[in-house]
Amino acid sequence: MSPLPAPGAMLAELVALPSASSFDPAADRGNRAVVDRLAAWAADLGAAVRVQELEGPAPRANLVATFGAGTDGLVLAGHADTVAADPAAWATDPLRLVETDGRLYGLGACDMKGFFVAALHAAARFDPARLRAPLHLVATADEECAMEGIRALAASGPPRARWAVVGEPTGLTPVRAHKGVLMERLVLHGREAHSSDPAAGASAIEGMVRALAALLAWRDELQAAHRDAAFAVPTPTLHPGVLRGGDRPNRVCARCELQFDLRSLPGMDPEELRVEICARVARAVAGTGLRFELRSLYPGTPALATPPDAALVRAAEEICGRPATTAAYGTEAPWFAAAGMETIVLGPGDIARAHRPDEFVTVDELDAAADLYARLIGRACGGTAEGGGRHAAAGGARSRRSSPPRGTDRRRRPASGPSRRRRAACRTARTARCGRRGGRGRPDCTTTPARGGSSPGRCGSRRSRPPRSRCRRNTCAVWRRRPGCGTGRPPVRRALAVRRHPC
Ligand SMILES: [Zn+2]
Repeated sequence: MSPLPAPGAMLAELVALPSASSFDPAADRGNRAVVDRLAAWAADLGAAVRVQELEGPAPRANLVATFGAGTDGLVLAGHADTVAADPAAWATDPLRLVETDGRLYGLGACDMKGFFVAALHAAARFDPARLRAPLHLVATADEECAMEGIRALAASGPPRARWAVVGEPTGLTPVRAHKGVLMERLVLHGREAHSSDPAAGASAIEGMVRALAALLAWRDELQAAHRDAAFAVPTPTLHPGVLRGGDRPNRVCARCELQFDLRSLPGMDPEELRVEICARVARAVAGTGLRFELRSLYPGTPALATPPDAALVRAAEEICGRPATTAAYGTEAPWFAAAGMETIVLGPGDIARAHRPDEFVTVDELDAAADLYARLIGRACGGTAEGGGRHAAAGGARSRRSSPPRGTDRRRRPASGPSRRRRAACRTARTARCGRRGGRGRPDCTTTPARGGSSPGRCGSRRSRPPRSRCRRNTCAVWRRRPGCGTGRPPVRRALAVRRHPC
């Protein structure tokens, strides 16, 4: 008899635990409750669990649950937070799992609490004592904002394994590479004057025209020099997404702001790109009397580039029955790759359902993911899956579905929850142990102190919460995890992570 609840019941529990990450303190819930629940389930299966707490007003933590012992093995990793949801935009309560025709609706069901359900049910098929190499289940904090969880884990020493699988929703197609992401803000400071004598001032708008032209010309150079046919958009991209300046036609504009994102191909160094951005802007505005300020809106996400002939890629292609592909979005996978593991992204659900109202994952997707993960565990960790043996398989999601409560909408009925006795047993068995551990150069460029590293291995392990400031909604289109983009919600107050610019 499995110590785990049925998959639908597990997902219902996880969805019911608020875990939104947000730059708005009022909406920031932290992921600690989810981590504690996952730690309890993993401990019930015989894992040794380590919880790494993160600083901040909301309770946040990373989890490393290790089944078995030794070296090599496999990491199954995901983030235990969600974006914030607007309940008014949902057909049902986002924190109440609802099942309809095999679809499980709820906040985070697809991105990516369903992954943990599938991973735990895959782990449950193995006896930890019989694994030849360890299986590590990793849950991180703050992925939906500044990725502070994975940065802290990387700084403190991530679990070591031969392979790592990040379970973001890929439709169960292996993703072996994705682009890197930078998001930068350029502000030009000039001098106001009456428009009847523009030469008496210094127009930040005119300077921005020059700077933007220089950046776009550089983009063309990058696209001519770099190409990777493995990506749907095979060149690096630079997209100006925000431009603000001026307030009336008869006043010389004293401040103009540009925000842009740059999607780099694997092999392009983020720091070198930032240095070049600064140099191009400096040249563009030289002699105009303008002062410029460059900031990185968040530390950035490195690119992932696992070779197509890597053993993990080959194994995943064989198990999934389809070739590996690439993605344009960023994930936590590069941090595992930087720690020396062959790394892919592979998870249940479709990324297109994430960060939207009525997010869902299907029962079939959870079942299939559990099967795939179990086969990967068998390849990486040895041991023999005991589907239906010591622990039940995830296939129970459908078979164990309980009848809806009386009076429930038959089209949208709540998924069954675990029994009170089972929840009590989980709490009793909980053994989670606290693992608490912890621009200068140009005279005309104002820089901002760093809050963390921009790439794996460079991040700082100690950091405070980011400064509160203005809304960054307009950056959402390029950083897919930003909540609230285009929804018309009130501006978020938690600033994107700002770091020292290398110029
Ligand atoms: Zn995600």
